[in-house]
Amino acid sequence: MRIYIDGKFYDEKNAKVSVFDHGLLYGDGIFEGIRAYNGRVFKLKEHIDRLFYSAKAILLTLPLSHAEIMRAVVATCRRNKVHNGYIRLVVTRGIGTLGLNPNSCKQPSVIIIAGKIQLYPQGYYKNGLEIITVPTVRNLHSALNPAIKSLNYLNNVLAKIEANNGGCEEAIMLNAEGFVAECTGDNVFIVKAGQLLTPPLSAGALYGITRSVVMELARESGLAVAEPNLTRYDLFNADECFLTGTGAEIIPVVKIDGRIIGTGKPGPVTARLVTKYHALTNVSGEPIYS
Ligand code: PMP
Repeated sequence: MRIYIDGKFYDEKNAKVSVFDHGLLYGDGIFEGIRAYNGRVFKLKEHIDRLFYSAKAILLTLPLSHAEIMRAVVATCRRNKVHNGYIRLVVTRGIGTLGLNPNSCKQPSVIIIAGKIQLYPQGYYKNGLEIITVPTVRNLHSALNPAIKSLNYLNNVLAKIEANNGGCEEAIMLNAEGFVAECTGDNVFIVKAGQLLTPPLSAGALYGITRSVVMELARESGLAVAEPNLTRYDLFNADECFLTGTGAEIIPVVKIDGRIIGTGKPGPVTARLVTKYHALTNVSGEPIYS
């Protein structure tokens, strides 16, 4: 595997960042998780847009233009012959002093890793996932806004540990008010009385690219979509529930906190959206890189 760091490619052994990089010292930086399908990078523009929004929010000036980052992502996929895979794009604040002041960091670093994707085991897609609500609440948007896809993922990591301790792969995270925010690495949706519902971004959810795509696919197929505040009660009494994310795609949820959701099996609306999502990602035709 050849890893892109600041315009050059390195093999895995030599792909290194400084111990003085504030990405390491303080989690000061941003990232994107992106997928490639059939030699095309899925929703690349949207991911780079979100990277720029995250950068703006943390006052980080990206060293490359939008178009240059897009080209670097595609070049890294081509170099590694990644036709179907996962791309991790990381921008760190760069090398500075031991103090946390970002002013000591003169040059942000851009890192791109293109490799294989670790999906949830196939059985979960067929039979659905069991998840639990965890005690760690999602970061306050007035403290560290979850809309910023920052390198500081400890909030999510703690929730993931709690999910694992409870025997689950994913966790529902509530916000400080007790409304449903999202999962540790996925957005959450429910289907209720023919409507598709997902928490608003203001509840503490990431502006998920898969979330937007699924909302668009639902609207196209005549399903009403809304973004109300949701409580655990709403999840428990949903007809269907599923999670969305670049890595996970769309994964059905059949049990939450011991409550069976709907029939206890992945539902028909979820199945329809999965089919539509696959149709979108499995576009045939000329790959943009080979
Ligand atoms: N929420 C969190 C906290 C995430 O980290 C992610 C992405 N891994 C998502 C939601 C899903 O976002 P996307 O569909 O853009 O991958």
